[in-house]
Amino acid sequence: MGLEEFRDDMTTCCRCSACKFVPLETLKGYDHVNICPSISRFDYRAFSGGGRLGIGVALLDKQLDYSSPKLREIIYNCQMCGACDVSCKYAMDMEVLEPMNAIRSEMVKHGNAPPALDKMITSLKNGGPMLLEGNAGQGEWASKLGVKDYTKQSVQVIYHAGCRTRHDKTRWAVAQQTVKLMQKANIDVGIAMDEPCCGGRAYQMGYQTEAADKARSNMESINKLGAKTLVTGCAECYFAFKVLYDKFGVKGDFEVLHTSEFFNRLVQQGKLKPTKKVNLTVTYHDPCHLGRQGEPYIHWKGQRVPGQLIIFDPPKEFRRGTKGVYEPPRELLQSIPGLKLVEMDRHKEFAWCCGSGGGVIETNPEYALWTATERINEAASTKAEAVVTGCPGCESLFETAIRKNNKNLKVYDIVEILAMATL
Ligand code: SF4
Ligand code: SF4
Repeated sequence: MGLEEFRDDMTTCCRCSACKFVPLETLKGYDHVNICPSISRFDYRAFSGGGRLGIGVALLDKQLDYSSPKLREIIYNCQMCGACDVSCKYAMDMEVLEPMNAIRSEMVKHGNAPPALDKMITSLKNGGPMLLEGNAGQGEWASKLGVKDYTKQSVQVIYHAGCRTRHDKTRWAVAQQTVKLMQKANIDVGIAMDEPCCGGRAYQMGYQTEAADKARSNMESINKLGAKTLVTGCAECYFAFKVLYDKFGVKGDFEVLHTSEFFNRLVQQGKLKPTKKVNLTVTYHDPCHLGRQGEPYIHWKGQRVPGQLIIFDPPKEFRRGTKGVYEPPRELLQSIPGLKLVEMDRHKEFAWCCGSGGGVIETNPEYALWTATERINEAASTKAEAVVTGCPGCESLFETAIRKNNKNLKVYDIVEILAMATL
């Protein structure tokens, strides 16, 4: 969508600054009131959701130039975590993240995206992963599992491991345990040795054409396979297959589930029995693309009625982040004997981002690490022994933040916890 389509949203911004904070009514205390990593770090209004909407209007009115290096710095020092969008929509009927996506798309069209991102897009176009580093092969992680290749044999369930898991050997154990748990529950599962990238990260970075092309080519080949379910343990891949592909109009003929949803179902149905005690106090981190951005896409066509009041014809239902994947991971953790779950102040749709999204881990790793450190400190304040989450991007950045800050905290993928209790 072009930026002009969001002029009404952008001019509706009343500069109230609610997009910088957790809504007042939901605050748990003084310590964790901020919700936007970008304004919290750079401390200047342009680095907030509302600030970026003002920039969008200035760009449309040609008061700002797309080629400015300062503009690139502001637009790309943002994780596209969507927290501003959810906080704004707590009281307002307007889009915040969508116009920010449109600004990034214009930055790409004007050739002013960070060069590191261009490099990853070249890899995507050549059939590679959206990563700057890491190429540990394709299906090697599964070589000893005796699992079907879904490109050669029909399967009921596709397990999509994702680039960040396949190309990082330290994450292979999670993928292996995922398959072992499925095998234990007699699930007819398959993987692809040359699994394609979902392309979801390209969208966040502003490369909307490339993301849409990838969505179309992936769906063309996956739809033909006749699988009933696609399961992934990566929040970014979940968002791509479930939400973004639907937005692009290429929704598949299969259900898309995160590993936490899929395994929680199996446990509730008695097909997996976590019986071994896991004596741990943990806190759960909601990945942005599984939580607030994992909410189903809502198709709406209409217009805003001109005038001061915000009225849409037909009425518009907004995605406010409340319908993301919040309960299945918590239910699954609570089914583990011996495990105690404690919540961080900022959780569910108001969770603080891990720091890696929007290409920030590639373009400004120092800022990404600062964001993760904030979250690790919040996790430590709960007195939990470990942070559990459901995204390899969050996990690897949290591990780095813990190591650099000498924190006594462990990081687990939710599948690792289930495997401890079940395998
Ligand atoms: S984007 Fe929303 S919350 Fe932020 S200043 Fe504008 S109206 Fe307020
Ligand atoms: S997407 Fe996240 S980092 Fe970017 S402005 Fe919104 S809250 Fe801040």
